[in-house]
Amino acid sequence: MGEFPTTHPRIIGLTGGIGSGKSTVRRVLAAFGVPGWSADDAGRAVYRNHPDLRRWVADTWGADLLIRDDAGHDVDVDRGALGHIVFQNPAALAALSKRIHPLVAAAFATWRLAQTQREAPPTWVVREAAILFESGTDRDCTVTLNVEAPESERIERVVRRDGVAREAVRHRMNQQWTDLQRRGRADWTLHNGMRDELLPQIEAFLEGLPVDTL
Ligand code: ADP
Repeated sequence: MGEFPTTHPRIIGLTGGIGSGKSTVRRVLAAFGVPGWSADDAGRAVYRNHPDLRRWVADTWGADLLIRDDAGHDVDVDRGALGHIVFQNPAALAALSKRIHPLVAAAFATWRLAQTQREAPPTWVVREAAILFESGTDRDCTVTLNVEAPESERIERVVRRDGVAREAVRHRMNQQWTDLQRRGRADWTLHNGMRDELLPQIEAFLEGLPVDTL
């Protein structure tokens, strides 16, 4: 015990619009030995892990947003209902984001630290976030990787994946940066349309990763 590598793995910031294939790319990178973490997944867990946050949500938007266990204790937040509120209201979304971002960032820091304790600590890890640039999280990343696919394909994929209406997907897209904005900021862009081959692009990306930035 007590073997603590002094260097933390460097961060690949992975982003892309909803349905572009970010999570798919994260899983492929994990198969190539680069472990990944998802801000979306962490954002889902954050309400379960932080009673103070649940209380604040209830105080701000109503206790009917709370999910309770059989004993009546609140254990989670109805994120669908909360989403209906905040995605119609930019001020509400900003207020919620301000609460959530530090908690999600702390969850990532904990996860990244845990990677240093693995038997073979990775040199790189993936931090996936739909709003990597919008949130300023890209500043913590050594390299940023953007995934793109045609908008019509993205909509169809999300409708199939989540069983939601096309209009709801379009609404989400309108809250995020455009492909053009992300591409302008990202170090690398992968194309994940149905006519594109993803694997060779991912291999080229991994081969191009800097090796001398420690
Ligand atoms: P994101 O994380 O960017 O929202 P996902 O990786 O979850 O996107 O991909 C959205 C859906 O589309 C998933 O069901 C996934 O399996 C599927 N998908 C991803 N890439 C492709 C592709 N190249 N062709 C067809 N379906 C894809």
